[in-house]
Amino acid sequence: MIDSLFTLYCEDCEVAARPSRLWVRAEIEVSTSRGPETQHYLECMNCGFRFKSCMEDHMEAVDDEEWRRFVKEAVVFLPQGEGA
Ligand SMILES: [Zn+2]
Repeated sequence: MIDSLFTLYCEDCEVAARPSRLWVRAEIEVSTSRGPETQHYLECMNCGFRFKSCMEDHMEAVDDEEWRRFVKEAVVFLPQGEGA
């Protein structure tokens, strides 16, 4: 499935010429003046930058409090390392 989400990139990594890998941590339905929209909470797997995206070319940094509020239930289990 091609989604506008995948046109996003991490600005920090882009500037540093690193390949950014974004990880969708949560999808939240929000109501806006234009109607319901799905807001995505994303994390860069390279540098850990956290941001949210609701419009395809707009992203906004997310602070820790907001991140915990929306992402806490979207726990993703990472592959465990050896010996874990
Ligand atoms: Zn990054």
